[in-house]
Amino acid sequence: MPPTQRRGATPKAPITSIPVAEGDDPWTAEEVEEIREELLAEISRMEKAIEVAEAGLADLFEDGGDGAGRDPADVGSSNFERDQEMSMVQNAREMLEQAQQAYRLFEAGHYGICESCGQPIGKDRLQVFPRATMCMACKQREERR
Ligand SMILES: [Zn+2]
Repeated sequence: MPPTQRRGATPKAPITSIPVAEGDDPWTAEEVEEIREELLAEISRMEKAIEVAEAGLADLFEDGGDGAGRDPADVGSSNFERDQEMSMVQNAREMLEQAQQAYRLFEAGHYGICESCGQPIGKDRLQVFPRATMCMACKQREERR
């Protein structure tokens, strides 16, 4: 943090830089802006996906409400569909949360730092996966748990 930074009211300065891993080129303002746009796009994409999936889910529950006279095979397949829709909604929610969290970090100026080890996440990874809040090594360690 630069020593010249004033306390109290923080001016809403646009974020122009993101930490880089050793050997990475520094971020350009355009690249930073691309990340911001990508995060926002991802958030709205996920919100849309959740909306659609929930609407589909509501339909399935409605259909499933009247089980009388239905072929057990049909009931089975609609349960399967419902499970699928539900896991889609859940996935989309998790992705939305990740993207929102990444965007919050971005706005706060802490974007690009691994939540787990505090090291820069690395430019390559963030450009492929803007909602990443952990470096590759920590993410893999977490997934193995
Ligand atoms: Zn890490």
